[in-house]
Amino acid sequence: MNTVLFISGHPDDHMTGAGFLNKLRKKGYELFEVVLTGGSGGYANPEDKDKIVDIREKEFSEASNLIGMKKTYLLNYDEHCLLMNKDNVEALVKIIREVNPNIIIIPNRDDYHETHLETNRIATKSIRTAMKERKLEFGKPVSPLMVLEWEHSVPKQPDLIVDITDEWPLKEKLLEVYKSQLNDVEVQKTKSLNQYRGAMIGVKYAEAFKTNRFLPLRIDKILGLI
Ligand SMILES: [Zn+2]
Repeated sequence: MNTVLFISGHPDDHMTGAGFLNKLRKKGYELFEVVLTGGSGGYANPEDKDKIVDIREKEFSEASNLIGMKKTYLLNYDEHCLLMNKDNVEALVKIIREVNPNIIIIPNRDDYHETHLETNRIATKSIRTAMKERKLEFGKPVSPLMVLEWEHSVPKQPDLIVDITDEWPLKEKLLEVYKSQLNDVEVQKTKSLNQYRGAMIGVKYAEAFKTNRFLPLRIDKILGLI
């Protein structure tokens, strides 16, 4: 079975790759997601401050159903002090080996947000560890075909572009679900970025990704050359 693991810093980060995820799901891929923090720092309305983690968990659950996630893991680390350590790396190694993904999608290394940046570091370290013949008490080593990084706030020259024109109605629904997070400016950012990436390949909407610089894309396996 082909599987995808999306590794998020916040409960709404899967918005960035929801079109690609939906395309993969329609082709028979099983989707899994792990979210490192509850996102206590993110609320569009100040009145939501004390209940934001609960609100985000409900929104995440609704959105995950719309995307068609098979299983989600909410680790609920405190986002204000999220730093790579032995415990969070081992927890992620265990999940990566349980899912045994062909494709892994993680936050972008050039993002401006510290939670995304730290999640990128934790994810990269955990994937590299999960691929090695070590820490075997957490499962068998994995061999993903590609590790991609999504984009949102800091667009750079992408390595991969995916036409998501057919998936745009789903993304509009998701934008509606994430009302506690996404004001009009955020919605505009998502839409215009996907339109701009679409223009690069002559379609209406697209999502762009970079490959992780430490984890080479296994083009030999992807093209069936070995
Ligand atoms: Zn985020």
